Amino acid sequence: MVNKFHHCSLKIPLNEVQISTISKFNSLVYEGKILIHERKECFCGGKEFETLSSFDRFCLPFGTQICKSCGLVSQKLSISENSLQLFYDQIYWPLIRGVEKKNIYKNLFKTSPKKEESQSFVLPYLLSQKKENIRIFEVGCGEGLRVKKLVKELNKFGINNQAYGCDYSTEAIKNFEKTNIKVVIGGIESLETFGKADILILSHVFEHMNDLKKALEQIKKIIKTDGLVYIEVPGLIDLKNKVEYGYSYQNYNVLAHVYNFSLVTLSNVMSFGGFKLIEGDEFIRSVFTLGTSQQTKSGYKQIKKALKDSRIKEKSYEKKNSFYRYIKRLLKVLLGKKGFL
Ligand SMILES: [Zn+2]
Repeated sequence: MVNKFHHCSLKIPLNEVQISTISKFNSLVYEGKILIHERKECFCGGKEFETLSSFDRFCLPFGTQICKSCGLVSQKLSISENSLQLFYDQIYWPLIRGVEKKNIYKNLFKTSPKKEESQSFVLPYLLSQKKENIRIFEVGCGEGLRVKKLVKELNKFGINNQAYGCDYSTEAIKNFEKTNIKVVIGGIESLETFGKADILILSHVFEHMNDLKKALEQIKKIIKTDGLVYIEVPGLIDLKNKVEYGYSYQNYNVLAHVYNFSLVTLSNVMSFGGFKLIEGDEFIRSVFTLGTSQQTKSGYKQIKKALKDSRIKEKSYEKKNSFYRYIKRLLKVLLGKKGFL
């Protein structure tokens, strides 16, 4: 059967590194080294979906769908669990940042977090527990902005701490060579050897996880009974405030994001795993702990409304940008070719 052909237009310019990385990714898929699987059932068990997009920001066929029952947004096609190590080590960062693998972290160190924070979101909750010693774990620690910041803050308060991290990228370890943070190559299960954490950081990681039920089991294995879980993901409801995506859902959507969360749909998933929300916003920054939470509710309507709002903002943003481009071109002509614009 031939599927209906959908047209995709790139909204972002790609550089040479990105174009060659897409070719490499395609080859790995054709060769069967990166496996792709189709999702037919939602995390909640629902089977009725509505398509939100057919492509990701690179026009690769990793479209998304929203579950009509719980509102959780997931990819129709995802990269299989067993292929993630290869994908994150070889493809992900050169594709996202447009720089060669060997230069990734040189480049990343110059970028600051998107949300300015005077202190870590989780710090007040951690301090309120009045622990004398705190064990920190970070999954997918990459450049380590979150874990390094928290270590610094705890040191300032004179609280003993030990920090451990894991990442699929072999380049990541290099970021921690001159620190006391011990980092290993691998996924969440690789942290088991370090005992149990008082605080587990999952910053821009949870939306990449393929099998959430398995991930929740693994999280439980590596945190203490009173441990905190900090989860940060690019919140879907907040898209209308995210200029970095041009407010565009297609730009926001990327092949590595298996799920797009709102605070409601994230809390539903966590609740299934036996975690309750302590505090969170739609950015999303959130703190969970073990415990039963209130009954789950559907995030469907809120998400549909938010996507509509951001679509309106995206259109006016595009219009404004094309107007500025027009004025710039016009001034260039008027001021001569050597204009300073
Ligand atoms: Zn669902």
